[in-house]
Amino acid sequence: MGKIHVLDEHLANQIAAGEVVERPASVVKELVENAVDAGATSIDITIEEGGLSLIRVQDNGGGIEPEDMETAFQRHATSKLLSDRDLFRIASLGFRGEALPSIAAVARVECVSASGDSRLGRRIRMEGGQLTADEHAGCSQGTDMTVRDLFFNTPARLKYMKSIQTELGHISDYIYRIALAHPGIAFSLTHNGGSLLRTSGTGDRLQVIAAVYGTGTAKAMLPLRGEHADYELNGYISKPELTRASRSALTTVVNGRYIRSFAVQSSLLAAYHTLLPINRFPVAVLEIGMHPGLVDVNVHPSKMEVRFSKEAELKAFVEETARAALGGRRHIPGPESGR
Ligand code: ADP
Ligand code: MG
Repeated sequence: MGKIHVLDEHLANQIAAGEVVERPASVVKELVENAVDAGATSIDITIEEGGLSLIRVQDNGGGIEPEDMETAFQRHATSKLLSDRDLFRIASLGFRGEALPSIAAVARVECVSASGDSRLGRRIRMEGGQLTADEHAGCSQGTDMTVRDLFFNTPARLKYMKSIQTELGHISDYIYRIALAHPGIAFSLTHNGGSLLRTSGTGDRLQVIAAVYGTGTAKAMLPLRGEHADYELNGYISKPELTRASRSALTTVVNGRYIRSFAVQSSLLAAYHTLLPINRFPVAVLEIGMHPGLVDVNVHPSKMEVRFSKEAELKAFVEETARAALGGRRHIPGPESGR
């Protein structure tokens, strides 16, 4: 008999969870991204004890069909990717089918969901990857995910968690970014009963900037807009008078996904050139739209890093558009300018 065998599903999920679920903020990110992908217009996030005791995400999106609910918690189960061609033009935030099974492997999860207007939903509970409860549930369309006691069965990981304040900081940072990325969705975030953020979902990004950074900052923002054969850029950047000591208020969004991009950040900073004092940084929200085939998001399980296939062009375009916004001139005359 050989010595090599295939890992059982539970063990495979626990291993994947090590990558996908690094800390409470990773759970929040995965659940919120699922809600965005489900077309929700309202997403409420409730956190207790930095997410270690409770993370709850309620959305009014399309919901999960009762017969799909268990499948959703299986490894590599997704409704977002059908063929290998889809992988090279991803339009959704998720696609790996790994979040729910990974979270369920290392926490106690309750999922209540209803799809369509049947009002007949289903509620299941999973504990350490095992189904522990399953019943019908009357509820309105949407999904309500509750994750309790994260890492209860992986003490080594639990030991690595930082203070409640640090974990909460990672969670709120992510929620601020996704709210900035999706001004058309009404977000609320509460921690231990106190409200940390509430956005209206009217689509006005400046309002979200005011909710996240304060009205003073919102007033010091310049709109920016540009078009290019391959890209579209929209957003706000701060006037040079308003600066910060770090890059932490720079948000890059590509096709609805909040990402980290050194390339985009450095192009923006290049546009400010000598306008900023040394070691001071602007506040910015840059939303870049492009054909999904021009960006590879399948670089890392967290999908925070991406690869652009025409990075040099993108960098030049971002710099040029930002420079035009700072100069108070429009980069390309829009249709209403009459040219
Ligand atoms: P992925 O997002 O990569 O598809 P997940 O494990 O995060 O994988 O979710 C598995 C599937 O469960 C999704 O493809 C989706 O069909 C369904 N799902 C998860 N969360 C929600 C939600 N909030 N609303 C509707 N469907 C959901
Ligand atoms: Mg997902």
